[in-house]
Amino acid sequence: MDTATQTASASTAEPAPLPQATGYFAQESTLPFQAPDFTQIKDEDYKPAFEQAMAIHAAEVDRIADNPAAPTFDNTILALEKSGRMLGRVSAVFYALTGSNTNDTLDAIDAEMGPKLSAHFDSIALNPKLFARVKAVYDQRDTLGLDAEDNKLLEETYDNMVHAGALLTPEQKTEVVQINQDLSTATTEFGQRVRNATVDGALIVDSKEALAGLSDTEIAAAAKLAADKGMPGKYAIALQNTTQQPLLPSLENRETRKALFMAGYDRAVKGDKDDSRALIATIANLRARKAALFGQPDWASYVMYDRMAKNPATALKFMEDMVPALAATQRRDAAMLDEQIKADGEDFSVQPWDWYRYAEQVRKAKYDLDENAVKPYFQIDRVLEDGVFYAANQLYGLTFKKRTDLPVYQEDVSVYTVYDKDGSELGLFYFDPYQRPNKRGGAWMSNFVDQSHLYGTKPVVYNVLNIPKAPAGEPQLVSYDWVETMFHEFGHALHGLFANQKYTSLSGTAVARDFVEYPSQVNEMWASDPKVLAHYARHYETGEPIPMELIQKIDRASKFNQGYDFGEVVEAALLDMKWHALTPAQAAAIKTPADVDAFEKKALGELGLEIGLVPPRYRSSYFNHIFSDPVGYSAGYYSYLWTAMLDRDSRKWFRDHGGLTRENGDHFRATVLSQGGTQDYFKMFEAFSGHAPDVEPLLEAHGLTGGDSGK
Ligand SMILES: [Zn+2]
Repeated sequence: MDTATQTASASTAEPAPLPQATGYFAQESTLPFQAPDFTQIKDEDYKPAFEQAMAIHAAEVDRIADNPAAPTFDNTILALEKSGRMLGRVSAVFYALTGSNTNDTLDAIDAEMGPKLSAHFDSIALNPKLFARVKAVYDQRDTLGLDAEDNKLLEETYDNMVHAGALLTPEQKTEVVQINQDLSTATTEFGQRVRNATVDGALIVDSKEALAGLSDTEIAAAAKLAADKGMPGKYAIALQNTTQQPLLPSLENRETRKALFMAGYDRAVKGDKDDSRALIATIANLRARKAALFGQPDWASYVMYDRMAKNPATALKFMEDMVPALAATQRRDAAMLDEQIKADGEDFSVQPWDWYRYAEQVRKAKYDLDENAVKPYFQIDRVLEDGVFYAANQLYGLTFKKRTDLPVYQEDVSVYTVYDKDGSELGLFYFDPYQRPNKRGGAWMSNFVDQSHLYGTKPVVYNVLNIPKAPAGEPQLVSYDWVETMFHEFGHALHGLFANQKYTSLSGTAVARDFVEYPSQVNEMWASDPKVLAHYARHYETGEPIPMELIQKIDRASKFNQGYDFGEVVEAALLDMKWHALTPAQAAAIKTPADVDAFEKKALGELGLEIGLVPPRYRSSYFNHIFSDPVGYSAGYYSYLWTAMLDRDSRKWFRDHGGLTRENGDHFRATVLSQGGTQDYFKMFEAFSGHAPDVEPLLEAHGLTGGDSGK
């Protein structure tokens, strides 16, 4: 923005006027709930909007820092909280789209804005005049008579500025700013390379015979994808973001299995333009150097200050305690699969690309459960409306109404108004279920609009998934894994929808990394609740409810194959910690792609787990969670396991108290789901469950207790 207009008021004591905003993002959306108006937003709007929004935010912050009045909570902490609203608006929409519906233009803006935004936020966090005012308020906090939420906002504002470097020397601050910008550039590029490598890494197969075992629908999808890629007559299998690929169990041809597995496993390590390893070396080095500037031994120690677990030692001990039982389970499971392979008349020992095929066979033999026999009971609309929404109705009294009057960013996206138990409007829910080449892998939730009493805004939340889309004319069925993921993501949505905070900074899912997955994991329990299942799991042709015995089988089978299912997550979490326990000297020794490979090999080898048979859920080269964002889940992937501990303990509470009832739902809502980031996490958990978190229900759920593991 043109700042020359500031001179107009230079002769008075009044602050300079703020730069003028133009374009779509200059004002709040006028649609219901301030929902984004996708009919009005064009790709070329984002860049000027970011630039204007940053200029306005910077001017707002300067006003606070230059205020001649003595610092108070209102004129400093509250004023800061209220600054940067336009930047919040444009970011919320832009990052939703770069995640779920991107294109080359948006990618280019993303790459350009990353370092600029990083520098912008650093200039605020490292503004000495501003920090002096924040510190002055913070130092008097015991005498201000603030309520709990105000006090929490004050503490977080202060802690975050200190964490950003407010107490560093000017030279150190300069270095931190440079590191942050370099990190932003490197991590954005990492994410783009992994996405390209994933799309380009699709396995191309010449003959239909090589795909034996796949359904006609899956083969048709593979033929279409190959044609879309300009290879008519061939077959292409798209990669999913994880190491294991969902079609592996069905493929009868072992060579095809190996080829598909390796296409995923060797993603972004081919020495071409999408190779991500040099970026990993850069990122690890930058993080280790930054931690050292803050007097911390490593990045993990630096980054965990606001986590529930608080330090790497607590998280590491929690995981390492599981390793012996887990390793034993992996070995026992592998031996069991080798038996199955022999019984199948084959002569080889199990490899990662065989694992799920033979695990499926054992699962069928042992539990008589066939994933493909289950799928016809899970039709996507029924799962959502009669399953996910129904559970929320039974627990919390919520109701939902689909609406078609609000614009969406892609034709497959649907929108619902969510009504509270008293019939009042609670918020909006967007649902974007299907896999697309321009969508990041995995599944996630976020907000278009954050709930805030300060602004009178209600939450506008969205869930994004990557469910393979059925060919036109075929029923849209989903695997049970995706059913659980739908419940999971909606658990995040509930956390956002039940937000009841004054401040957006503390609202809804604005909680610690190792707490945010807790409500979502708890919500998964309702996917297999008999009452919920009976309501949504109906055969798409006959309408018959899923047989109770199939439900019992799903339940019994849930402890099966934990050496792999649980093991690959523990390994990824430990690999993450190893990358982020590097001192600057250790990190400096990792320079080339070969160094990255060597480090990964060594780190995984040290874990004491059966890595050759059960590789981590993500290899370093495509571990987006920890390398595609300046912080992201770095030194935080353990959070999934930590919150699983909170989750399993909470499921036990629900079961002990009668399960799916309004009373139980209301208690969970009151103690956890509506609290946002306003409370101490251990206290919040205790307010719900009545005790400190206990790891036993987690170990039990994964069959890792006593001598019964691996069954
Ligand atoms: Zn989640």
